[in-house]
Amino acid sequence: MSGIGKGITAASTGRILKDYGFKVTAVKIDPYLNVDAGTMNPIEHGEVFVTDDGMECDQDLGNYERFLDQDILGDNYMTSGLLYKSVIERERNLGYGGKCVQIIPHITNEVEERLMKVARKSKADFVLVEVGGTVGEYENLLFLETGRIMKLKMPEQVLFMLVSYMPIPDMIGEMKTKPTQHATRAMNYAGVQPDMIIARSSRPLDNVRKEKVSIFCNVAKEDVISAPDINSIYEVPSNFEKDNMGKRILHKFGLKPRSKKSSGWNNFTKSIKGSSKPVKIGIVGKYFGTGDFVLADSYISVIEAVKHAAWSCNRKPEITWLNAETYEKASANLEELKNFDGVIVPGGFGKRGVEGKILVINYLRNNNIPFLGLCYGLQMAVVEFARNVCGMNDAHTTEVNPKTSNPVITTMSEQLVNIKEKKMGGSMRLGAYSCRLAKGSIARNLYGKDIISERHRHRYEVNNDYIKDLEKQGLRVSGINPQRNLVEIVELPEHKFFVATQFHPELKSRPLSPHPLFRGLIEAAISM
Ligand code: GLN
Repeated sequence: MSGIGKGITAASTGRILKDYGFKVTAVKIDPYLNVDAGTMNPIEHGEVFVTDDGMECDQDLGNYERFLDQDILGDNYMTSGLLYKSVIERERNLGYGGKCVQIIPHITNEVEERLMKVARKSKADFVLVEVGGTVGEYENLLFLETGRIMKLKMPEQVLFMLVSYMPIPDMIGEMKTKPTQHATRAMNYAGVQPDMIIARSSRPLDNVRKEKVSIFCNVAKEDVISAPDINSIYEVPSNFEKDNMGKRILHKFGLKPRSKKSSGWNNFTKSIKGSSKPVKIGIVGKYFGTGDFVLADSYISVIEAVKHAAWSCNRKPEITWLNAETYEKASANLEELKNFDGVIVPGGFGKRGVEGKILVINYLRNNNIPFLGLCYGLQMAVVEFARNVCGMNDAHTTEVNPKTSNPVITTMSEQLVNIKEKKMGGSMRLGAYSCRLAKGSIARNLYGKDIISERHRHRYEVNNDYIKDLEKQGLRVSGINPQRNLVEIVELPEHKFFVATQFHPELKSRPLSPHPLFRGLIEAAISM
């Protein structure tokens, strides 16, 4: 089922194989009809991750990048919608030479071709393919079918892993394997036999359960891998290795480890355990709630980036969710911001919570509390500064107030056409753009170089007509996209730490190389 850890399993398996000296890449297949993840609400589907080449995809691609410590491109993400769209477009162009076009083999072939293309382009020894959804449901059958056909064509080159949940119901107090037995049956109906079963549970699997799963699910006992809940997702690879997962996989493909494991990942996980002194970071957002539950998934890359930076400073990250709307209701609530060592205002869309974010930024600016603004966070920082320092009382982004007399944040002309024609999917400034950093700026000092590349996902930009006024009052534009002359970073040189970016630095933070701007925030947060 969703959320049980397929993404982390795929990413961790990749990490293990990479540490054995193999070239690895990973692909996510989402069974949705959305053509990409760009039109999905983060509350429904979690964060929209963006690749360098501008694909808007599932957050699992972020896990792959973080665990594999390598860039993953847009070809590594596909949805049912994308697959159907390209097959139907080809059919409309007579690309199938008059044949009846069918789900099998035409869509399954499309999936296979795309997977093989990823393998060729990335020159990978292993392509890990994660199929979203739950075994047995109507929507992902097509992908099990593709797997079955690929195994038929390349029996030595395809291996199936089932990630399954073993509940321990409170009233029984015993771990149940029955759902896993049924999941295996459901795979068998689709003509697929799992080669390995990853047993997700709150506790490790005991011998009795391993034997049971082995007999009922038709896999060797050694191929039942215990995957209990642990403190940090980054310890999952070493946990899998307790059951020799890597060597079992290599053995099945007739391969031997190519190199001795590097120590980088181990040292990193040690730094997690070694960090005990807390650093308190507040994240002000609005995409949290679903019913009675709080979802952190909408901001997953931001959270991970905070963690990477904190651990690299030997601090234990303590993250608190702050709902922007509570500050709109009572500004007295702003006082609580004093309890944090640093505050992040991340990306967002639309009107809800915007005034709350502006109040927060105003408070952080006036009280010298370290602040990092991301995308909408930059836009709101500029609005706040224009209103409260430059005296433009109605300054706003045209996204929220199209009639403002001071549109400090507005659309580029090419985006205007998209918005008018209601072409919202895939129509933002997406993917990697370069940015030139100003000499002597905070950003330049943190990055340690003049030109950087960062990823984008937004429709609106700082209006260049206002830069002079903003700079005159002390807001420094410290990063510019040289090709289009667009504002990428603003900062306040006199503040303890006040930096905001139009791009999303969180998308490029890695456990083994924390992002410089997040490091900057944490360093300021822990400095006296
Ligand atoms: N809503 C803003 C825009 O479209 C910011 C987007 C974001 O934060 N990702 O420009």
